Amino acid sequence: MDTVVYILNNTKGLTSSRICGILFQGSGCSKEEPSLEWTVDVDLGPKPNVRRTDYRKANAADVLTIVQLSDIHHDPTYLPGGNAVCGKPMCCRSSQGSPENRDASAGYWGDYRSCDTPWNIFEDTVQQIKRTHQRIDYIYMTGDIVDHAIWNTSIEKNSDVITKVLKQLQADFPDTPVFPILGNHEPSPLNVFAPHYITNKKVSTNWLYQISAEMWSVWLPSETRETILKGGFYTVLAQPGFRIIALNNNVCYHFNWWLIYNPRDQDDQLKWLAETLLQSEKAAEKVHILGHIPSGDTECLRTWSREFHKIIERFENTVIAIFNGHTHNDHFHVYYAIEEPTHPVSVSVNGGSVTPFSDLNSNYKIYTVDSATYNILDSETWIFNLTKANTNASVNPTWFKLYSFKDIYGVESLTPTEMDKLTHRLAANRSLLEEYSRYYVKNADTALANGCDSQCLKTKLCYTATAKMGDSTQCDRLMQEYEAANERGGDSGIINTVSGYLKPLING
Ligand SMILES: [Zn+2]
Ligand SMILES: [Zn+2]
Repeated sequence: MDTVVYILNNTKGLTSSRICGILFQGSGCSKEEPSLEWTVDVDLGPKPNVRRTDYRKANAADVLTIVQLSDIHHDPTYLPGGNAVCGKPMCCRSSQGSPENRDASAGYWGDYRSCDTPWNIFEDTVQQIKRTHQRIDYIYMTGDIVDHAIWNTSIEKNSDVITKVLKQLQADFPDTPVFPILGNHEPSPLNVFAPHYITNKKVSTNWLYQISAEMWSVWLPSETRETILKGGFYTVLAQPGFRIIALNNNVCYHFNWWLIYNPRDQDDQLKWLAETLLQSEKAAEKVHILGHIPSGDTECLRTWSREFHKIIERFENTVIAIFNGHTHNDHFHVYYAIEEPTHPVSVSVNGGSVTPFSDLNSNYKIYTVDSATYNILDSETWIFNLTKANTNASVNPTWFKLYSFKDIYGVESLTPTEMDKLTHRLAANRSLLEEYSRYYVKNADTALANGCDSQCLKTKLCYTATAKMGDSTQCDRLMQEYEAANERGGDSGIINTVSGYLKPLING
């Protein structure tokens, strides 16, 4: 409340069209809002010819192993046997009374309903990774450590949870570089990231940047401190020729109320990204980008998404892959050149979630990365079945590799060219798309029981090619392909072209 009052009292010339343009992303607003029209002002020079090395047969000695751990959402008050059907946005907490019957009681190893991660799941996930994957080069941690008790955040509570989780990771991975980023659940209140020059303690986000700079310093060089304190983002040369750029792209989230105060490039993060990539290009480095929110989501401010997309397209030789979280699902997106829509320029992959919130199995991912090109050669998703785990509280969950991306989808690697081909195959092959849909929810029993009809499949298909918010060019193309293939295959549903359709908010 303090934040909203501060923003409304301190925003000069605030118009209803600005509020409408941000909250509803332009749809239904009475007029265009000039303050939402901005560009990143950096002279990027001419784009070099595309010379991406697509695929190389690396032998075992030439690969890096990267773990992605996303959306931990640890609930410190999770109570096994507690109330999993509580009528609140989130349940299974010690303060929420007793369950009405046995079916409503919270599982020992977590719960498919609207419940977050008990400490035992988090601990078990980390132990499983240590036990099973002997050589890990890097860990990408893609945000959202704090739980979904969004009515109950405070700087103190959030700090405690963030500190507890990061300390455990430091203890478990003292020698493995971990590259963390912030999620939209880290600030208090949820979602709101103030520009760094807002120092009023009641509304500033600087406490979060300070705690992050401190806790992350175990893994990051001291040069990262300046930009972490400025806006929660940083870059590290992980090894010669290979750079990691860690963004705080939660500033683009349209529920970040500070966009109303200043809808432009907050803390000049995109400008910094473009300048950093320009330096990388000159130094012939390859880059992985980490960012919590997938850039094409309806939740990401249209202008921010467009400018980000422009930068990714400009640096297609440099940015090899983007790693996201936030949705809790297992999916990917292909970025395409705007002027040449058949040309794929980059790929993003999503890490899923440690939390089973909601109707999901907990997971982590393992990427095999070529150590010369930094292309992703394969990705594995590891899970345990929550129903089975909860049948026995005294036995730790049985983790297993759910699938290898390369094996299931028959791609040679996860490069843009290969992933573009895969989108066409998913459109043409309904059973492959159904398989993608099962992995999307990580084979969770409750989600599989709900099923995924034609409309649901088309949504997921569309989403694979949506990387620029509000741009349905690729989605329309895939819908036509789907329609043609399924008409031949006798799919009964009437298929509408989903122009402008993007993914609805599910988790986050
Ligand atoms: Zn999130
Ligand atoms: Zn999340």
